Formats: sequence, structure tokens, C-alpha cells
Amino acid sequence: MGKIVSVFNQKGGVGKTTTAVNLASALGLAGKKVLLVDVDPQGNTTSGFGINKQKTLSSYEVLIGTAAADNAIIETEYKNVSVLPSKSDLAGAEIELTDLERRESRLKTALLPLRERYDFIFIDCPPSLGLISINALNASDSVLVPIQCEFYAMEGLSQLMATIRQVKRSYNPMLELEGVVLTMYDGRLNLTQQVVGEIKKYFAKKLYSTAIPRTVRLSEAPSFGMPIQYFDKRSKGADAYNKLAKEFIKNNRK
Ligand code: ATP
Ligand code: MG
Repeated sequence: MGKIVSVFNQKGGVGKTTTAVNLASALGLAGKKVLLVDVDPQGNTTSGFGINKQKTLSSYEVLIGTAAADNAIIETEYKNVSVLPSKSDLAGAEIELTDLERRESRLKTALLPLRERYDFIFIDCPPSLGLISINALNASDSVLVPIQCEFYAMEGLSQLMATIRQVKRSYNPMLELEGVVLTMYDGRLNLTQQVVGEIKKYFAKKLYSTAIPRTVRLSEAPSFGMPIQYFDKRSKGADAYNKLAKEFIKNNRK
């Protein structure tokens, strides 16, 4: 059975999508079968793979229940990686879901029949604590949290942990913290060292020893619709996400 992992932080722009796309790609290259589910109306994961957002069925139809996940999945040209795309209609789903039955568990139900086909299913969450994120966390075995190394990094972390605890209590008692990854890391800054110190104290062993450096190549890759390992395989960013994938695999060895 494939493991379902939400990439989640309600804070915007912390590297959720960059991590989801490039970690998925690294795992695919390492021989793991991966599905990446985009449930962010912004659809950045979807365009990060060069998929045209308006032409496909998407997680919107899957959540509302007018399409099966199976029919919306696209096999990418990148090794072992498939994507369940998103489109902007999803922005309305937050409201539409309110009136539907089982509004917190629709994604979970939709992904269930897919679990045995993949080693890992990642869900790229929107930067919010609404029903879409609740659906993602409810469907997941674990949560992977990217944290940007900046002055405000610690702000919002207690709210994030409270949300995870609340989902555990109300819907999904088995939900675990998969790990915490530092993104946009710049070791030359004193500030970064301070932030890392605090985050280490807070998360202890859950913090990955691989930090993702801030590099221009990582921010350029999505505009070419490519994961970093295909855009520039010798870059520092590719190297970092490959290392993160190794740690991720090691932690998930049974
Ligand atoms: P949102 O909350 O809006 O979904 P997000 O958490 O998914 O955002 P990303 O889209 O991954 O964050 O990253 C935010 C911006 O920072 C993007 O422009 C991305 O290209 C850039 N970025 C992410 N990681 C890095 C990095 N390691 N080095 C340089 N730029 C980065
Ligand atoms: Mg994103």
C-alpha cells in the first residue's frame, strides 16, 4: 500500500510546491512510483510539470465527485511520476464542499483505490487551513512540512501543529509528522543559524539533515515545466532534493 504524504504549511511561499515537485521527481528517479496530487487552486505543481491546466480533468472534479481520480491522472514524461492536476475552479470548491456529504473525507475516499499502484502519493496543499487542506490531511498517513529559513519562520508553527493535532483528534488518529525540511537556506546568514537552532529545538529528530539551499535554478525550473533533476541535473538544488529523497526513503524503510 502506498503511503500518502501531505506537503503542508498554511504559510504561503515557503517551498511546498518546489519540494513536492522535486522530491517526487527524485523519488521517481530512485525507482519509486509516485503520484503527485495538486489540490491548490493556484495549480503551481500542475504547471511545474508543464501540464496545461484548463484542458484536463482535475482534483476539482474529483473532490466534487463528478470524475474518478483514475480518469484525471496524467502520466508525465518524467520517470515514475504521475500528476493529478489542479485548476482554478478549485478555488470555489472550498464553498461547494460545505454542502456536500462527507465534506472532510472526499479526497481520502477518492485516493483509496489508487494506493496500491504507487509507492508514495504526495498532496501539494494550498496555503490555507480550509476544507481542502483538511481533506488532504485527513487522506494522509503523514505530513511533510517545509519551513523557509527567515525571521518569521517560527510564527505560525504552533498554529500548524495545532491544526495537525485537531485533524488527528477529529478524523485521522494515525496522522504522523513525516518530517520538517528547511528551504531557501543560506548558511552565510547569521539569521539562518538562529532560525535553524530554534527549529531544531522544536522538532528535534523530525528535522531532515538535508536543507534545501536558495538557488536561482530552483526558481527557474517551473517556468520550463521541468523538475530540477531534468532542468539542471548537476545543480545544487538537484543535489539537495536527491539527498532529501534518500533520507525520505531511509525513514520509510519497513
Ligand atoms: P504557495 O503557498 O503559494 O503554494 P509554496 O509554499 O508552494 O507557495 P513555492 O511555490 O514552492 O512555495 O515557492 C515560493 C517561491 O519561492 C517560488 O517562486 C519558488 O520558485 C521560490 N523558491 C522555492 N524554493 C526555492 C529555493 N530553494 N531557492 C530559490 N527559490 C525558491
Ligand atoms: Mg504551492
